[in-house]
Amino acid sequence: MRIDLHTHSHYSDGTDDPSLLWERAAAAGLAGVAITDHDTTAGWDEFAATRPPDMLLVRGAELSAHIVADGRVLSIHVLAYLFDREDGPLAAEMRRLRTDRMHRGMAMVDRMVAAGVPISREQVLDIAAGAPVGRPHIARSLIDAGLVASVGEAFAGYLSGRGPFYVAKADTALTDAIGLIRAAGGAAVIAHPRARGAAAVTDLDFFRTCAEAGLTGIEVDHPDHDGAARAELRAIVATLGLVVTGASDYHGRNKTLVLGQESSPGEVVEQLASVSSGRTPVLGPGWGER
Ligand code: AMP
Ligand code: ZN
Ligand code: FE
Ligand code: FE
Repeated sequence: MRIDLHTHSHYSDGTDDPSLLWERAAAAGLAGVAITDHDTTAGWDEFAATRPPDMLLVRGAELSAHIVADGRVLSIHVLAYLFDREDGPLAAEMRRLRTDRMHRGMAMVDRMVAAGVPISREQVLDIAAGAPVGRPHIARSLIDAGLVASVGEAFAGYLSGRGPFYVAKADTALTDAIGLIRAAGGAAVIAHPRARGAAAVTDLDFFRTCAEAGLTGIEVDHPDHDGAARAELRAIVATLGLVVTGASDYHGRNKTLVLGQESSPGEVVEQLASVSSGRTPVLGPGWGER
């Protein structure tokens, strides 16, 4: 029994609606998914309402956090599972992150418009359709304008973190994010720690600090991790007594990977649930009465 513990729908910067994502989960032979849209729980109700009876649903979110290392601000993503979305401090921080995403997305568009790039705020807001604005939405407008052929090409150029149009987000400090998730009764897992910018700093000491703040697991099996990264992360997990998770980070048409190409065994869902408060239960076979 395998569960894909990191997926995005059109409630953030993926492209599938819940029904289509469930269809793909069944086609991939998965026993369930976690929905982890960026900085929002807006999709939870529709995912619960459309859940096929034989599928597990782990409700979650992916939060944008940062650390400061050698004077540089680095982005670290945290997966939050089974937390109480009514919890005041976490809900307020997620609201702040969504508002900041909106301003930052518009600021990036403004920089492009000022440089003569033929896209507009309206176009990007239209594509986001109420979801927290992310660079993949801007990528879509660049594709529609015929400026790039793919989301990947947009990220390599116009949307690059090192490019002239990039604007940083005001993300939560990492240990604060972990603390907020735990205080809201959820489990916290560091997402893709060896992907892109953060890879150099996510060593044993980094994870020890996270564990002291309440971290439950590390997303080891992720499409952006090679074999060496996975082996190193497994050694860290063993040293610190954490949980290994695996997940695809599926984004529909906005990424080239397939749902379920990385996944976690059922025991991992049990481990995440065991540290959660139970206010947001796992939904699905075997979980009804807990
Ligand atoms: P943002 O959160 O707005 O900074 O945008 C970053 C998000 O875009 C990440 O969470 C990924 O989901 C996605 N992303 C990052 N790099 C790429 C890429 N090369 N191709 C497609 N999606 C990407
Ligand atoms: Zn994303
Ligand atoms: Fe991420
Ligand atoms: Fe993600």
